[in-house]
Amino acid sequence: MRANPGLIILLTLLLSACSEKVREVDDYDPAHDYFSFANTDQFVMQHLELDLSVDFDAQELRGSATLAMRKLEPNATEIILDTRGLRISGAQVLLDGGESIAAEFSFGESDKIKGTPLVLTLPNAAESAAQFELKLEYATSPDSTALQWLPPELTAGGKHPLMFSQSQTIHARSWVPLQDTPAVRVTYEATIKTPPELLAVMSANNDPLTPRRGIYHFEMPQPIPSYLLAIAVGNIFFVPLGEQTGVYAEPELLDRSVFEFADTQEMLEQAERLFGPYEWGRYDLLVLPPSFPFGGMENPRLSFITPSLLAGDRSLVSVIAHELAHSWSGNLVTNATWRDQWLNEGMTSYLESRLMEVIYDKDRVNEERVLMYRELLLDLDTVPAALQALAPRLDDGDPDDFQGTIHYSKGQLFLQYLENAFGRDAFDRFLSSYFDRFAFQTITTERFLDYLDENLLKAETSKVSREDAEQWLYQPGLPADAPVPSSSTLDAVEALATAWAEGEIDVTEIPVQGWSPQATIHFINSLPKDLAHERLAELDAGLGFSATRNAEIGRTWFIQVAQRRYTAAYEQLEQHLNRYGRGRLIEPVYLALAQNGSDLELAREMFARARGTYHPLTESAIAGVLGLEES
Ligand SMILES: [Zn+2]
Repeated sequence: MRANPGLIILLTLLLSACSEKVREVDDYDPAHDYFSFANTDQFVMQHLELDLSVDFDAQELRGSATLAMRKLEPNATEIILDTRGLRISGAQVLLDGGESIAAEFSFGESDKIKGTPLVLTLPNAAESAAQFELKLEYATSPDSTALQWLPPELTAGGKHPLMFSQSQTIHARSWVPLQDTPAVRVTYEATIKTPPELLAVMSANNDPLTPRRGIYHFEMPQPIPSYLLAIAVGNIFFVPLGEQTGVYAEPELLDRSVFEFADTQEMLEQAERLFGPYEWGRYDLLVLPPSFPFGGMENPRLSFITPSLLAGDRSLVSVIAHELAHSWSGNLVTNATWRDQWLNEGMTSYLESRLMEVIYDKDRVNEERVLMYRELLLDLDTVPAALQALAPRLDDGDPDDFQGTIHYSKGQLFLQYLENAFGRDAFDRFLSSYFDRFAFQTITTERFLDYLDENLLKAETSKVSREDAEQWLYQPGLPADAPVPSSSTLDAVEALATAWAEGEIDVTEIPVQGWSPQATIHFINSLPKDLAHERLAELDAGLGFSATRNAEIGRTWFIQVAQRRYTAAYEQLEQHLNRYGRGRLIEPVYLALAQNGSDLELAREMFARARGTYHPLTESAIAGVLGLEES
């Protein structure tokens, strides 16, 4: 996922309180998933079959989920599944011989974050079965945390509704009753019934040529963790980008998407050269409406993508490199629990930068690394020490809140550090063997560390000890010998910002037209804090920051506008908040308004006007930023 660093600022207080508590607990088990009710030590799910109707009027999915279960503990008779807001109307156990027996079920006590455990009792006749199927008839609720139901007016075309899911981290349970933990992998198949004019797509074998008739069948033969279950239904069409790659979008977004993501096929081919075979068949993109809460979500075979990447100049496609890289780190080798998330996101951020280096040029990658590093330093100033470790103790709170840049950027830096120490060839060999060794498995940080130790750190010429690696994984901050990214182009941009601020050059002498968006972002962030508003006005008039349609430049500029209370640009700031629904682009702007000492009320008013267009996850995070009750 490309997530939202703004969240971490808001949740630090909450989580620091939690981590105090964690330290007192002696039996903390880093391999245990504290965010699932499922008794995966007794029963484990192996295959899932969905048969669902998509009802836009009721805003619900209705039908059945059939779970193929294997019993691990011979005497166990109770199966506990994760659910949130699901109505279960029937449960049956199907035995090998075809016998079907009704199973008793009840809900356990609900938890605000984890949802409600569904407890099923195996009928006597099924108690001795080592394998069986569990068929659950159910319906989702309109406020399912995974599903967003967009009315036609919130889509690009404005004529048809659109629905999409976001299951990571623990939201699959709000549309499928299942063992919702990354520790368990399943293959799946699905039959999805929709209004006949709409198309359904899933994180499975989408057939670009499938006839549009309101019933679609999917198969996913590779086992995936539950957070990668994904579905979208809407007036969407397909255009191929290459032999194995293509893009799905509403017709209104297709041309722009095809232009923006034209390099996807080459990215896939280069990624295979770097990291080993692509194990998933096709790699397609689905461009969603603006309310999609993230930059992208690496749903296998079909990454879900924000339209805020459609900058018209391919300048923001590092997000595609990121989602594609997840096909190895995350989707192929998966974090065992959300506490090990750096194995997904840190590794993916590192692979993303390697891929960008091959497809584009080194200057651009250096620029992106510097921006990443600056964001990381800001986070290290605000995130409590206990959460600055790559693999902290985590057994409480909401795993959605455990995002931010620490495990993305610090994780990337750790792997860069290893590459620098061992050389690119040796490190690449290590990575390939790692993906090969743990393909289609879930692993803990400790398993990674042991493998790293055996296969790299113990080399005769090793300059890195196990203790060095442990410092990255378990200690706050950055080690003294952490790499510091640098970019000569960004250094030059910074010098120009200073020269302009000190009156040495005129605004017309700033060559912003020839700059990358990363350079423009760095320029804005390099302006002195005490700049007079007349000078900001001069800059804005000359360089047009308030009118930018590049989402990342807008984000950077409007954070500054809010922090500096440059009210002349507040109207355009509000337009930015209405244009995008991706958390990264808007949450820090709300936060800057809320924290500038004067505009909390104004921020709440802007939020009240915009919130109807936001995804529930984004809406609830911003409500938190603004000190409002969560909706
Ligand atoms: Zn990611």
